[in-house]
Amino acid sequence: MTGFDDRFDIVIVGAGPVGLSFAASLARSKLKVAVIEQQPLEKLAEPAFDGREIALTHASIRILRELGAWDAIPASDKSPLQGARVLNGSNAFALCFDPPKGSKGPLGVLVPNCRIRDALFRVVRSQDHARLLCGHSVVTAKTGPNGAVMMLSDGRQLTTRLLVAADSRLSAMRDRLGIGAEINRLGDSMLICRVRHERPHHQIAIEWFDHHQTIAILPLAEGVSSVLVTLRSIEADRLLTLDDDLFLAELTNRCRGRLGKMTLASSRHIYPLVTTWAHKFWAPSAALIGDAAVGMHPVTAHGFNIGLSGQSQLADKIMAAWRDGRDIADPAILQKYESRLRLTAAPLYHATNMLVKLYTDEHPVARLARHVGLRLGQSLPFVRQGISAVLRR
Ligand SMILES: Cc1cc2nc3c(=O)[nH]c(=O)nc-3n(C[C@H](O)[C@H](O)[C@H](O)COP(=O)(O)OP(=O)(O)OC[C@H]3O[C@@H](n4cnc5c(N)ncnc54)[C@H](O)[C@@H]3O)c2cc1C
Repeated sequence: MTGFDDRFDIVIVGAGPVGLSFAASLARSKLKVAVIEQQPLEKLAEPAFDGREIALTHASIRILRELGAWDAIPASDKSPLQGARVLNGSNAFALCFDPPKGSKGPLGVLVPNCRIRDALFRVVRSQDHARLLCGHSVVTAKTGPNGAVMMLSDGRQLTTRLLVAADSRLSAMRDRLGIGAEINRLGDSMLICRVRHERPHHQIAIEWFDHHQTIAILPLAEGVSSVLVTLRSIEADRLLTLDDDLFLAELTNRCRGRLGKMTLASSRHIYPLVTTWAHKFWAPSAALIGDAAVGMHPVTAHGFNIGLSGQSQLADKIMAAWRDGRDIADPAILQKYESRLRLTAAPLYHATNMLVKLYTDEHPVARLARHVGLRLGQSLPFVRQGISAVLRR
């Protein structure tokens, strides 16, 4: 049986950074919102460091500021990104991305994922329109034109006008809604850790497509960087199991001494790489947001930026409908959300996948093509400035 407390206007499944942002975006309405999260409350309240340093664009910073989350992140956790260099194999040539001439401020800002989650959790918790139901998952869900009914793992039944799936790129909710997705398991994993190092990073990131490995070096505090090594999963698993000394020796070797002497500054984390693109971003009385809709390859650092802007667009449309007394789950609203997100995410998603393919292909023709690509990028200023402008948007 469903009681008054179990009826909601919007139920969000997944309290990751995008699910929490969406809940926070709806705070200015009187809509009754529930957020269902499988992790226990204590884990959400104190999210552990997970290795991810999220490169936020200026547009994302604006949204987080409006939600009240940006100022809740300590300044010491915000690392400005003053530029980026892209390298190919052992070639010394670098494609350079710098802030456009005359612009003030960095290209973007790096913030640990756990600090973003923490800030958003505190924002949502301080608002009384949203209920957090932690330690639960959805066991069954039935959606139709008039709403959704779902059963939680504790046997509780909830009803809602709109069900929103934000439960990651391998979304179980997406499957329950009968929405298919293109899921690419790449067979590669990204191994991440922070290191302290001798040589200065000047707040410049490095993306280095080397033979059989890709290394990204993200500048954090002075003398500290996050190193991300992408390898075949079996190799990355081997690196994860090495003791600290052996691991550091191998990492230094793989980085070819770029950072000078290094010491470990964090635990190591591993992410098997999977990209996803949902066939549809909505169903009657339901929508997909964040990675459940579009799960990007992390190499271009855009997954959360896209998810954050997508949830903001959906929330704006829902709030406008609510203010006008219209149906908040009107298919026309969900359709518009889908069209807009497709338009903004598709070029980045496909360009990123093409880039990954080109830069991980060891065929001599591909190697030559990427070398030519970098040179061409450097000599066509509108390419570099265009990419810098996307980051700064
Ligand atoms: C190594 C790495 C680096 C990255 N770097 C960047 C970057 O620099 N810039 C950028 O923009 N993006 C980056 N990303 C992408 C970014 O991390 C994701 O896009 C973002 O986390 C997506 O947020 P989300 O809330 O949609 O999903 P998630 O972060 O996956 O959160 C999903 C939530 O749903 C919960 N959940 C899952 N299943 C259920 C269920 N059945 N019931 C209830 N709850 C459930 C999970 O516990 C979790 O809390 C990176 C990703 C990786 C892997």
